[in-house]
Amino acid sequence: MVVTEADLDRLTNETLELLQALIRNECVNDGSYESGHEDRSARLLENELEGLGLDIERYETGPGRSSLVTRYHGTDPTAPALCLMGHTDVVPVTPEGWDRDPFGGELIHGEVWGRGAVDMLNLTSSMAVVFRHIVKSGKRYPGDIIYFAVADEEAGGIHGAKQLLDEQWDHLKCDYVLTEFGGIPVSTSLLLTTAEKGVGWRRLHVEGTPGHGSMPYMTDNALVTAAEIVRRIAAYDPGARLDSLWEQRVRAMNLGPELSEKLLDPGSIHEVLALMPPALARNTHSCSHTTFSPNVIHGGVKTNVIPDRVSIDVDVRTLPGETSADVDAHLKTALGDLYERVRTEILQDEPATASPTDNPLWSALEKAMARPYPELTLVPSLVTGGTDSRFFRQKGAIAFGAGLLSPQVSAEDFLMRFHGHNERIDVESLRLTTQLWLDVVELLWD
Ligand SMILES: [Zn+2]
Repeated sequence: MVVTEADLDRLTNETLELLQALIRNECVNDGSYESGHEDRSARLLENELEGLGLDIERYETGPGRSSLVTRYHGTDPTAPALCLMGHTDVVPVTPEGWDRDPFGGELIHGEVWGRGAVDMLNLTSSMAVVFRHIVKSGKRYPGDIIYFAVADEEAGGIHGAKQLLDEQWDHLKCDYVLTEFGGIPVSTSLLLTTAEKGVGWRRLHVEGTPGHGSMPYMTDNALVTAAEIVRRIAAYDPGARLDSLWEQRVRAMNLGPELSEKLLDPGSIHEVLALMPPALARNTHSCSHTTFSPNVIHGGVKTNVIPDRVSIDVDVRTLPGETSADVDAHLKTALGDLYERVRTEILQDEPATASPTDNPLWSALEKAMARPYPELTLVPSLVTGGTDSRFFRQKGAIAFGAGLLSPQVSAEDFLMRFHGHNERIDVESLRLTTQLWLDVVELLWD
């Protein structure tokens, strides 16, 4: 939708204020069913969108947990529908690590501070503001536009997008989805999420023989075995798997022929990773490897008892094309002779998902992003974590992670702030993102 500069100023200000309010609602999802309290933000958004003449549905998926859906009908029922989806929950904080109140939503030197400022209340707020502006204007587009503010993304979407897509597909039905995250300027490119890694979470049960802690000599201590298993998993290198998404990403990084060739060669990729700043290296490593992170260990009952049972939870993230059997094959290799000592329990198995780029949504994003950044190329990228996009991809929709960051925020900063301390976003990025949604809507059905 075409707007004047004055309108864009006003809409950016509305995005800013809504973002502050969403941060202050403190919808912290710690993974438990009772956390989140997304009701607060669902009600707030309901108030924001009231009076537009649309039906607004609020779906309860748990105590204090609700998600909001509203649809603005297009003129042509056969035209593809676009869903703007933002989650309303945020991850917990460690307040000691912050220089400001993580739930204050303060505006300081042109930046809004608070948990959710980049993940992803910035998008949830700008989408709501743009949606409201479009409906208020009365302008109709061929396809429907849906606004979906969803709970529980940060704990895997089980009580949010997953449940609602299973139960309410009639209400959520769409062809295209925009959600977190993308529009990050890196060198001469803008990264936009088109794919995400799969999860292959495993719990490894290790058994030993109980005994008295005062006589450890020659005992079969499950914790000691588990420690060696953890060490082997941490040291395991599954080797790089470099596909066409990876190649596009490397070309986009524009590192010059020598570094690029090394990044495209599984034999030398680690030489380059070692030279990168830590956050970027981590991300680059994860986009080219299946990863294994042993993150939880349970075991032992008493200081003077040799433990006979220990369990280790391993966060495994798979690349597109990898199966559940591949995960187990990796663990077998990583553990070597100790593989026989564990019983493997599958905690979660979901393959990686990806959306193609030869479609009108990608073209609209390319054109829209070229307005503020004519010199940058839009590059499809893989994200290492899961987002709610995957549930829509499983339903056959094309889903991208978008948004737009100003040059003030480097990719390194952005990645550090994601779930990190001192999360914040500059107002210029809010303005660019607000403009982006307006432009995409205008260009999508052209
Ligand atoms: Zn998020």
